[in-house]
Amino acid sequence: MFENLTARLSRVLDSLRGQGRLTEDQIDTAARELRMALLEADVALPVVKDFIEHVRQRALGAEITQSLTPGQEFLRIVQQALTETLGSRPEPLNLRQQPPAIILMAGLQGSGKTTTTAKLARLLKEQEKKKVMVVSCDVYRPAAIEQLRIVAGQVGVEVFPSAVGQDPVTIAQNALAEARRQYVDVLIVDTAGRTTVDEAMMKEIAALHAALDPVETLFVVDSMTGQDAAKTARAFADVLPLTGVVLTKIDGDARGGAALSVRQVTGKPIKFIGTGEKTDRLEVFHPDRIAARILGQGDVLGLIEEAVRKVDHEKAARFAEKLKKTKSFDLEDFREQMLQMQKMGSMASLLEKLPGGAQIQAQLQHIDADKQVRRTIAIINSMTIQERRHPDLIKASRKRRIAAGSGVEVQEVNRLLRQFETTREMMKKVASGGMAKLMRSMAG
Ligand code: GDP
Repeated sequence: MFENLTARLSRVLDSLRGQGRLTEDQIDTAARELRMALLEADVALPVVKDFIEHVRQRALGAEITQSLTPGQEFLRIVQQALTETLGSRPEPLNLRQQPPAIILMAGLQGSGKTTTTAKLARLLKEQEKKKVMVVSCDVYRPAAIEQLRIVAGQVGVEVFPSAVGQDPVTIAQNALAEARRQYVDVLIVDTAGRTTVDEAMMKEIAALHAALDPVETLFVVDSMTGQDAAKTARAFADVLPLTGVVLTKIDGDARGGAALSVRQVTGKPIKFIGTGEKTDRLEVFHPDRIAARILGQGDVLGLIEEAVRKVDHEKAARFAEKLKKTKSFDLEDFREQMLQMQKMGSMASLLEKLPGGAQIQAQLQHIDADKQVRRTIAIINSMTIQERRHPDLIKASRKRRIAAGSGVEVQEVNRLLRQFETTREMMKKVASGGMAKLMRSMAG
């Protein structure tokens, strides 16, 4: 995400590295380049103007603290300005309405509204332990109703049935009555989208809003449409009291213009971002973390949260227990770790959250990390149980057999065994001295 903008900004900031105190000329030049970078990213012009003025003023008035070089100080100012432009702090969903809390989803066709409805249902169910029901009021497209039924089924939340030709407001009211009967915590209402903003659609959604009085009205918009995304959101906000925006398809957005424009153009917070097609690819929007990501500094907190969410805690605890008791780590354990890693999701999406990750990713484009993990698992699968438990048995002829069995070269098997040895060494340290010792040994 945002790779073009990241590359462009890092060039501007690099040009300020390692110099003495920044002169006014240098600040002006940097501000001009920043301006170009933001315009290229398709950020709305008034936002660009404010941003640059802000950065310039702060840079000119900055007291360079002793611990920062002028370049670092400038980076800090840009990072702060980005964070503010993105909205300063996360804006959580307000679900404090008398249950069911109603979330109304609005947006143009193809923006990702239905997908986001399912993603949000999943997030609320899994992370907030809410009982969720969804309903489609798109009475024009049978495919839309069917799509919601399928994706909601995948994430395991109840769908209130609806059909083409029914009145959207009646559907919504019936769904609400049913949600009350079932003590549902959150009812998410998906609505019809058109290809452009038109009066009929606005009227319909306004009627739904009036009938339901939702606590959250979220506008879903495709971030790849750049500053147009902000304009469309603004047109909706003029008619409907929006409470927030969801930016979808951030994973395909190299520029970042939508993200940087929405807050200021609409006055509404970005509450979530969609980072992929799968139903687990919805993230709470953290302006500070996204600003850091835009500047290539990664989002280590986000990375840890994602990892913690996806790891099977019971398995991890059992594994730690076994390690402590037996002090042994074999290829079966190694495979288990690989499977856990695979579960944590695509390596690429994790890598992107590491500091400098975007650059690493660009350099590694030809290496498919997910494929590596799959291969490693395939090689271990080609070993006998004996071999997995006692890797020392694996000598030349066995290596040839394993390589042939898993369709790789013998060197690959050797590589895996080396990787395993390194991991085993680390595990031994964990088992004998705990985490603290491991950290020390890694640091030393
Ligand atoms: P709707 O017409 O607004 O309901 O849009 P859909 O939910 O049907 O989404 C349109 C297309 O966008 C589908 O192919 C989705 O898989 C895709 N999509 C939605 N959100 C995301 C996202 O965050 N990332 C990516 N890459 N694709 C998305």
